[in-house]
Amino acid sequence: MPIRSVVVALALLGATLPRHALAWGATGHRLVSSVAAASLPDEIPAFLRAPDVAWQIGELGREPDRSKGSGVIHDRERDPGHYINIGDDFLVAGGPRLMALPETRQAYDSALRQHGTDQYEHGYLPYSIVDGWQQLRKDFGYWRVAAIGERAGASAEDRAWFARDRQLRELLIVRDLGHWSHFIGDASQPMHVSVHYNGWGPFANPAGYSQDTRSKRPAASGATRPPARPSPPSGWPPRPPSCAT
Ligand SMILES: [Zn+2]
Repeated sequence: MPIRSVVVALALLGATLPRHALAWGATGHRLVSSVAAASLPDEIPAFLRAPDVAWQIGELGREPDRSKGSGVIHDRERDPGHYINIGDDFLVAGGPRLMALPETRQAYDSALRQHGTDQYEHGYLPYSIVDGWQQLRKDFGYWRVAAIGERAGASAEDRAWFARDRQLRELLIVRDLGHWSHFIGDASQPMHVSVHYNGWGPFANPAGYSQDTRSKRPAASGATRPPARPSPPSGWPPRPPSCAT
C-alpha cells in the first residue's frame, strides 16, 4: 500500500542516518524529509515526483519546530510530541515498555500517572508518528476517491468537483508528508529518545559518560548501547529537550 510504503521509507531512512551527525535542527530535518521524499517508491502517485515536491517536503519537515512558541496552550500540548525519554531498561519512567506501548495516548498517560508522572513530562513521540501515519492513510484514501470521481463522476459537474478536490488533497498530502515526517526525523535523533539527553544525568554511570549539559550531544562517542540501569529517578527530566539540538 502506498501509505505503508511512505512510512516504511521514512522509518528506514531515519534508522540509517548517522547517529552522531554534527548538524541537526533545521539542517537535519531538511535532510531527513527531503531525501525520504526523493526516495519514494514507484507506486506512489505521480504528483509526489514533481520537481519541487521533495524540496517542499524537506522545508515542511521543519514546521513542527518552527511553530514552537506560538503560545502556552499550543506549546505545552505539542512540544512533548517531539521526544520520549526512554530509560536504558526500555521503559518510560519505569512504566510503559517501548516495544509494548498502550494503544492510545490516553492509556499511555494513565500508565505514566501510576508512576507519578505523565506524557507531558516524558514525551509521546511514538504517538506522534502513528498519528501522522493514520492521517496520511486517510489523506491518500480521499485522494484515490477524488481521482476516481474525476474520471468516472456521474456528470460533468461532479467530475469537475472531484478534480478540484483532488488538487486540494494533493496540497494537503504534501503538507502532511512534510509535517509528519518531522517526527521520523526526531526519532532518528538519539537525544530525542533517551533519558540521557542533557548530559548523562543522575543515573548509574560506571563508564563515566559526560555530564556536560551544554552540547546536548550523545554523552560518549559510540555509546549506542549504554549499560543497563534502573528506571529514571523521580523528578527527571529537569526540562524537555529542544529540537534545536
Ligand atoms: Zn521536533
